[in-house]
Amino acid sequence: MTNDELRAYDQKHLWHPYTSMLNPSPVFPVASADGVYLTLETGQRLIDGMSSWWACIHGYNHPQLNQAIHAQVEKMSHVMFGGLTHRPAIDLAKKLIDLTADNLQHVFFADSGSVAVEVAIKMALQYWYAQGKTEKQKLLTVRNGYYGDTFGAMAVCDPVNGMHGMFRNILADNIFVEAPACEDGEAWRDEMIAEMAQALHTQHQNIAAVIIEPMVQNAGGMRFYCAEYLRQLSQLCKQFNVLLILDEIATGFGRTGSLFAYQQANIEPDILTIGKTLTGGYMTLAATLTSTKVAQGISADGSGVLMHGPTFMANPLACSVANASIDLLLASNWQEKVNHIEQQLTQELAPCTNLEVVKNVRCKGAIGVVELHHPIDINWMQPRFVELGVWIRPFGKLVYLMPPYIIEKAELSKLTQAIYQVVSEFSSSQTIT
Ligand SMILES: *Cc1c(COP(=O)(O)O)cnc(C)c1O
Repeated sequence: MTNDELRAYDQKHLWHPYTSMLNPSPVFPVASADGVYLTLETGQRLIDGMSSWWACIHGYNHPQLNQAIHAQVEKMSHVMFGGLTHRPAIDLAKKLIDLTADNLQHVFFADSGSVAVEVAIKMALQYWYAQGKTEKQKLLTVRNGYYGDTFGAMAVCDPVNGMHGMFRNILADNIFVEAPACEDGEAWRDEMIAEMAQALHTQHQNIAAVIIEPMVQNAGGMRFYCAEYLRQLSQLCKQFNVLLILDEIATGFGRTGSLFAYQQANIEPDILTIGKTLTGGYMTLAATLTSTKVAQGISADGSGVLMHGPTFMANPLACSVANASIDLLLASNWQEKVNHIEQQLTQELAPCTNLEVVKNVRCKGAIGVVELHHPIDINWMQPRFVELGVWIRPFGKLVYLMPPYIIEKAELSKLTQAIYQVVSEFSSSQTIT
């Protein structure tokens, strides 16, 4: 098939994330990827500003990660995890336990972020069930969250912009309060968490857990918030006997400047989910960690077992590449790199503030966000970025960057320049019409 035939077949038959079969969006066939470059079937090379949905932090086709997969595939690609175990899973569990909060001692491997969130929710519900507190079945969360596309996860995503509005009537009936609205460095006022505190105060008897993305709300709007909110939230959860689930699927492994975002607040979650970056963006794998209190609590009563077990649980190839990715990250000067990316993004995206269509520009760690007043037209903007030789995938009102940490200064400048150019073109087209 030629490049055009590939595109045509794809558009007719393949679903992409959140796309229509009647009115398909443009897609660009990729032939290979290396470092921070994607090479299209046409031969064109694009600088990647997305890390393939924030996962591919070391870049593509990395020799050490390739080597880990090659070595593992020669031993075994997969074995069932029921009744069997293996070194890649045990090594990975040990790394995760050593790197996360002291209380987190038990690991459940899942095959995607959404499933890790399902497992986290199930852990919380089963924990209270086993304690005889069967009325504690609701989750409390904040608006603008995104936790995945499965039914348990959808039921805590933002009820309006969470992309799942049409399923509302069959989703679990959870409790939503306003999203954190405190900037980093802004003086703390108790009213910043008042609605959350009130919900806990009045409904804690029915609440199993609070679930939240620490420091950054990601796919629900790329919103940053202050560490004090998390500290206060952690206190409130303890006070009202409610578990705290932190979803670090997007923020884990350095993206916000600390290895895990919750470390900026110096707190310990009861349950932690990680995914996306876990394998350096090579394969699908996620994990849910929990404390001994929760793990033993679940096992204390009734069935006595955690009711979950994916077929491809702890896939050895995925665990091996995750081990290699974590080793690579820890052996690198990732913190310095993320700091440099933050400085450069802050400096080079700042001029966007002057464009009429731009509402806000914000940067945190290796995340740079340009928020517009109105939703962009993806079918115009996406091909325009490709023409400029960059891969940037905006959504809603947001044009943002989450580049691989290995990106060079000049490459990052190309990305920020492309954003300025395309957003100014968008700005002029808006003023004409
Ligand atoms: C992406 C994401 C998920 C869902 O992960 P999938 O692997 O896409 O199922 C859950 N939570 C957060 C915070 C995410 O960013």
